[in-house]
Amino acid sequence: THFGFRDVLESEKEQLVGKVFSNVAEKYDVMNDAMSGGVHRLWKDHFIRSMAPGPGTTLLDVAGGTGDIAMRFLDYCKNIHNDSSATVKLVDINPQMLKVGEQRFQSTPYANTNQVSFLVQNAEHLDDIPDESVDVYTIAFGIRNCTHVDRVVKEAYRVLKPGGRFMCLEFSQVENPVISKIYDFYSFDVIPALGQMIANDRESYKYLVESIRQFPPQPAFAKIIRDAGFSTVGKGWEDLTFGVAAIHSGFKL
Ligand code: SAM
Repeated sequence: THFGFRDVLESEKEQLVGKVFSNVAEKYDVMNDAMSGGVHRLWKDHFIRSMAPGPGTTLLDVAGGTGDIAMRFLDYCKNIHNDSSATVKLVDINPQMLKVGEQRFQSTPYANTNQVSFLVQNAEHLDDIPDESVDVYTIAFGIRNCTHVDRVVKEAYRVLKPGGRFMCLEFSQVENPVISKIYDFYSFDVIPALGQMIANDRESYKYLVESIRQFPPQPAFAKIIRDAGFSTVGKGWEDLTFGVAAIHSGFKL
């Protein structure tokens, strides 16, 4: 086989991402709260409310990590519909992150039910997920860590049932020049310092900031989603907190 320069860089990205999340797995939840001042919780709540899943929905939560989305999804179904037939499959490339997630579910009503299951999978090839098998696909703060964003979105299209919905919550680009200045300071100075203080790991958090800056801006990502075959409503995304994060969504019609 022939390996080009690009292939080396790509496999390095996957390894680097693996190292980052293995390093931070135990401190991941604490860091999220510290870095965002708890705002990531509001974004995730809003994400699930926008999904508004009905009773019996089957969700595939990709790059699900420690389970924030899966947990909120099941809570929503229980609290809003008194439904315990909704199911979520939480998949992640990193066994350590999944393990922290599994432990968290142990102390919930969902432990030892068939409502939640865990599986190691790469978002770019969901080998163990059949075609047209899920109602909703979510990926929250995961897709920017993947090497080929377009492959991830195509896999989402493959596994969704017709009528199913792709939903992505991800850091995005801030357009407002004033907010953008503040955000830059926060990203390049405050976040690595917090990473050092709390997780004793400045480099991993520098990587996280870089990965946010390199991810395509909202319109370009919306185009990738449409190119994979999804239909979008309006422009295809909603900005959260001035575009610090955004929800992109598309339907497989
Ligand atoms: N969705 C969770 C949340 O919102 O709290 C976790 C987000 S965490 C920032 C990113 C996750 O993406 C990590 O658990 C990491 O292991 C996972 N990840 C990175 N690359 C991946 C890939 N190619 N396939 C699946 N998961 C991946």
